[in-house]
Amino acid sequence: LRARTRKPDWIRVKAPIGQAYNDTKALMRRLNLATVCEEAACPNIGECWTKKHATVMILGDTCTRACAFCNVKTGMPRAVDMKEPQHVADAAAELGLEHIVVTSVDRDDLADGGASQFVRVIEALRRTTPTTTIEILTPDFRNKHEAAVEAIVAARPDVYNHNLETVPRLYPTIRPGARYYASLRLLEQVKRLDPSIFTKSGMMMGLGEARMEVHQVMDDMRSAGIDFLTLGQYLQPTPKHAKVEEFVSPQTFSAYAAIARAKGFLLVASSPLTRSSYHAGDDFAKLKAA
Ligand code: SF4
Ligand code: SF4
Repeated sequence: LRARTRKPDWIRVKAPIGQAYNDTKALMRRLNLATVCEEAACPNIGECWTKKHATVMILGDTCTRACAFCNVKTGMPRAVDMKEPQHVADAAAELGLEHIVVTSVDRDDLADGGASQFVRVIEALRRTTPTTTIEILTPDFRNKHEAAVEAIVAARPDVYNHNLETVPRLYPTIRPGARYYASLRLLEQVKRLDPSIFTKSGMMMGLGEARMEVHQVMDDMRSAGIDFLTLGQYLQPTPKHAKVEEFVSPQTFSAYAAIARAKGFLLVASSPLTRSSYHAGDDFAKLKAA
């Protein structure tokens, strides 16, 4: 097992340097915006920020949950910032984004789980940068998800993403605050309410999942009408987070991609460094042009 858990050569990342990287960082600080790129310690930050691609994390930088794989800090979050929606839109305008990915921490403390802030962000983006396509990556909204999803779907994002993260067997240790079937039902609800919205989900590999379990999750996703799939290698952010059980080889990621395409996903991104938002805009633009 040791050999399988030592960081292999294919997990190589470029150091975050350069003017475009610094400009992106300065813009986020000036507009008081958090990014998942920084908070989740994403390995692609050097590449993405150099290209001025960033994933904004709304509703603050502090989460009410503590998933075993996640580097975002846990605690009592601050009050909702009503200037945040316009700041997100201003960032999209300044960066000249054709596609924006907006995510959030979990806000189990809020009556609507933060859904109305997603709606305000979508509305601000439509006003300020009407040609930018909008992808949102939401939490599961726990027991408020029916109303939350209805409100967000009515605001019509282009892509609705919610990650299943791992196979159901590993939920109690990896995603203890969440329920696998509740997440699937959330995505199914989006598709039922508005079939024109693309739905997307993803998983982290290397947490101890078996190949057959991954295939089963793909089938569950297709049964829920999910259009896009992302699979990437889990990397342990700090020693107190869940261990990497396996570094899945690039060949296995390619094999998963082939199986996923055969199962009918419209877009599949599957590689060690794939993240939910990695190349999301490029892939979506290609799909629209096809
Ligand atoms: Fe940010 Fe996503 Fe790129 Fe990571 S892959 S740096 S989260 S935009
Ligand atoms: Fe991280 Fe999301 Fe879990 Fe919060 S709910 S700890 S942001 S993965």
